[in-house]
Amino acid sequence: MTRLIFEIMYLAFAISLGIIRRPHEKRNKSNVIDVDQKGALEKWLLGLTFLGVSLLPLLYIFSPWLNFANYQLPLYLNILGTVLLIPAALLFYRSHADLGRNWSVSLEIREEHTLVTHGIYKHIRHPMYSALWIASLCQPLLLQNYIAGLSGMVGFGLLYFFRVAREEQMMEDQFGEDYLDYKKKTYRLIPKLY
Ligand code: SAH
Repeated sequence: MTRLIFEIMYLAFAISLGIIRRPHEKRNKSNVIDVDQKGALEKWLLGLTFLGVSLLPLLYIFSPWLNFANYQLPLYLNILGTVLLIPAALLFYRSHADLGRNWSVSLEIREEHTLVTHGIYKHIRHPMYSALWIASLCQPLLLQNYIAGLSGMVGFGLLYFFRVAREEQMMEDQFGEDYLDYKKKTYRLIPKLY
């Protein structure tokens, strides 16, 4: 029974991320794209992330097929996983709100792209990725299965490591000194640490 409660928590969280993102997706569809770096690797990594954070969790929750890889954690870790969903959702919301029309799911620069250095971006350069790292940490605390729990970290982890330096290079190519200055004043994921 408690397993099910935390599975529902994960599902509700995943749905809420979709709801937060939806209006930005809709509005930014009309963006005119100047630079598009969405190559084959990026598409594969996005697909892998989708598999890891959505498809495998759904398979685990709604079918018995992955049950052979189940484990059981102490309740306090399930609760920790639930509590950490709150900063993840807040960071995800804030980063979309601050990026506004400059947000895109992939590596793109739009016509009239502006460098965002306000709001949450004043402190860290990749708050959306911070949110997704926290979510990847929550996943194995809520979905107690070696496959469905760890697949988010693997999928998103690969996307992150292959993307972050390329994203920063793209921003530097576009905004030059302004981005280098911004980079000096901020951290990647965790204020004052990294
Ligand atoms: N890495 C950021 C943004 C993820 S969305 C984060 O984790 O919060 C990816 C897109 O956001 C990139 O294609 C780029 O066009 C845009 N982007 C990233 N940082 C930005 C910034 N500081 N200002 C404006 N656009 C930015």
